[in-house]
Amino acid sequence: MQAFDVTAVRREFPTLGTSVHGRPLVYLDNAATSQKPRAVISRLERYYAEENANVHRGVHVLSERATVAYESARSVVARFLGLDDPKGCVFVRGATEGINLVADSWGRSHLRPGDEILLTHLEHHANIVPWQLAAERTGAKVVVAPVTSRGEVDLAAFKGLLSARTRLVAFAHVSNALGTVNPAAEMTQLAKAAGATVLIDGCQAAAHFNVDVPSLGCDFYVFSGHKTFGPTGIGVLWGRAELLDAMPPYQSGGDMIRKVDFDGTTFREAPERFEAGTPHIAGVIGLAEALAFFMPIRASAHAHEQVLLSAATERLRAVKGLTVVGEASDKVAVLSFTMAGAHPHDIGTLLDADGIAIRTGHHCCMPLMKRLGLTGTARASFAFYNTLEEVEALGRALERVRKMTA
Ligand code: PMP
Repeated sequence: MQAFDVTAVRREFPTLGTSVHGRPLVYLDNAATSQKPRAVISRLERYYAEENANVHRGVHVLSERATVAYESARSVVARFLGLDDPKGCVFVRGATEGINLVADSWGRSHLRPGDEILLTHLEHHANIVPWQLAAERTGAKVVVAPVTSRGEVDLAAFKGLLSARTRLVAFAHVSNALGTVNPAAEMTQLAKAAGATVLIDGCQAAAHFNVDVPSLGCDFYVFSGHKTFGPTGIGVLWGRAELLDAMPPYQSGGDMIRKVDFDGTTFREAPERFEAGTPHIAGVIGLAEALAFFMPIRASAHAHEQVLLSAATERLRAVKGLTVVGEASDKVAVLSFTMAGAHPHDIGTLLDADGIAIRTGHHCCMPLMKRLGLTGTARASFAFYNTLEEVEALGRALERVRKMTA
């Protein structure tokens, strides 16, 4: 593994050189969205300045060029997920749309009254609400695997909830609120042994470590481009081709059809089956650029982030009155915390005055917050471009918050 040169890496991200309130920006809100490297920004500009055309339907040079760029992006995504075949990689708006697509299309064609959809207590709302709606539509029932007070899924309870009724299991690879890394391969294996179909929400995993879908063994995997150093408005749903090809269309219109007649319409196979209308071409091309930037440094970036995580955990624990929320044995560099006497929103506002961007609130995980007896936390979430100096800046700023609110 190559040594990780964080100074050189940071130079590739223009926003990291900016100031906020006259202070150098310390960006610790990466779980909400990541910053973008120059390579992505300039690729988007080049696409719009030199290559802009609609894909798939054109015979002219620009359209052919855009189509080649669009389709080769699919191969980059496949490589990013450890897959040989890009066929199962569907471009969607983001993880949210990917989950909605499966809940709607797969749900409609597979869920029956009495079936169970097993989730965990640490899910993001995006991996709860679509299943609640699917359950309402089909008569299926949502069942929830508990988490421990350390923020880990209770595996024994998870196993105990699996039965012949379990039709689908959906869980986060990594918790956005706590940073917990779930034992995704083991959970998938247990679910598959019970005969269930498995969807993994990889939104918070894809930007932190190597995701190898074949070794996870799941049926669907989703992630968002904007959390993985790419543009907003683009994401990926990967599904087993045989499942996708058998699923009814989600949205319909141009490009997803084989033949349209007023007597009846036939549909293409995946991935086009689920890409109705003009896609987010620039987003797809920008995402491929982001993944191509990230892939070669992924392993060393992860090691660097683990150093940041242990340094930040130790530094924050040294702040009087501060409690770290989420103590899973396997975590990415996400630190949720509360501080006695200080509302999370006040912590966030005071840190912002110091140029430090964090997120506060329920992190779209209201059921998890309720389980932990909290209404919200303050959350510092790191990326590979963060530094030990920034960890120290966060620690010092939190000491000041404590003095101001004590
Ligand atoms: N799942 C998890 C674990 C997330 O963290 C998020 C975004 N915070 C989502 C799903 C939804 O992602 P998006 O808003 O990009 O669709």
